[in-house]
Amino acid sequence: MSRKISVELASRVKDLPPYLFSTIDRMKKKALDRGIDLIDVSIGDPDMLTPGHIVRKMKKAVEKPEHHCYPSYEGMASFRQTASDWYKKRFRVSLNPETEIVSLIGSKEGIGHIPLAFINPGDIVLVPSPGYPVYPVAALFAGGKAYEMPLVKENNFLPDLKAIPAGIRRKSKIMFLNYPNNPTSAVANREFYKEIIKFALRNNIIICHDAAYSEIYYDNRRPLSFLQLPGAREVGIEFHSLSKTYNMTGWRIGFAVGNTKIIAGLGKIKSNLDSGIFQAVQEAGIAALKSKDSILEKIRNTYQERRDVLYSGLKDLGLEVEKPKATFYVWTKVPAGFDSTGFVSHMLNKAGVLATPGNGFGAPGEGYVRFALTVSIKRIKEAVDRIRKIL
Ligand SMILES: *Cc1c(COP(=O)(O)O)cnc(C)c1O
Repeated sequence: MSRKISVELASRVKDLPPYLFSTIDRMKKKALDRGIDLIDVSIGDPDMLTPGHIVRKMKKAVEKPEHHCYPSYEGMASFRQTASDWYKKRFRVSLNPETEIVSLIGSKEGIGHIPLAFINPGDIVLVPSPGYPVYPVAALFAGGKAYEMPLVKENNFLPDLKAIPAGIRRKSKIMFLNYPNNPTSAVANREFYKEIIKFALRNNIIICHDAAYSEIYYDNRRPLSFLQLPGAREVGIEFHSLSKTYNMTGWRIGFAVGNTKIIAGLGKIKSNLDSGIFQAVQEAGIAALKSKDSILEKIRNTYQERRDVLYSGLKDLGLEVEKPKATFYVWTKVPAGFDSTGFVSHMLNKAGVLATPGNGFGAPGEGYVRFALTVSIKRIKEAVDRIRKIL
């Protein structure tokens, strides 16, 4: 008898798409081992601290014995009420905290789980490409198939709905969308959302709009909520996260809002899989959502200064750059003679600057790299200087 069992991964794990960042991860490790002074602009994680009033709220909340028990999966009533108030103030959208809001252990959790509620084997999930890698993986884990909707510059990085074949539309149950967009930094307008609602009604497709970057915007142009459009609540939900807005990526707190049946479906999955967010974190989340406007303005101003420096710096180098209206990403065409991976490794090995290759977000991202505005102005200037020398 063998003294070991044979550990075999399930096909859903074996079938995962190849991890396109693995080559880059290896190169990064090598570069760091050589002891280089790396400027890492590949990270989608704020370098700024969580605001002090949120941390102080957490410290007090941790001491409360009533927070030491299991929370409820749907979130404390006070947290959901605060999320509802925040939506009202920010978007003029009224939401019933009992039926139209569910708390999430970070929006990634909700995005990852929602196909489990609505996808049967063989059903299709429409996903943007380039896009957040969780959308296609969530489809796969639920037994569904992802169909990629290319986001290209000619269409302002919005999916071309007319290009989705009828056979695909028929089998589609969910569409993921994400504006302001990671990685392209594109935003969506009212007309686009109207088209989406029509498309959803005609084809009976659930819209899952990921609005993780709604508060990271520039030049005082505030992005819309999908739910501001008439009829949106009849076809979909919106995911929100405190991660990017309040520099709280490590805290794991977000929420989903919108259509009661879709929220209830997601809740059904959650009630069977998780037990909600630590209540002390929810109290901190309440403090975050009630922050003075000046707190977010300061964060936005910091990113805007960085954006201006990086955008004009890269333009001066002759690169074709999308000027972000929102998000902390700068989507940049690679210079002639390079592909995404080639240019990223050239910058890493010759300039000590690490960006993310666009093809890692899906095939239509080939030919682009993504810079993140998550380092100081001084380091951004230095990165531009170093890139100048290797072009
Ligand atoms: C960062 C990010 C998220 C989610 O983050 P959480 O920390 O899980 O809330 C969701 N969508 C996109 C596109 C992101 O970039």
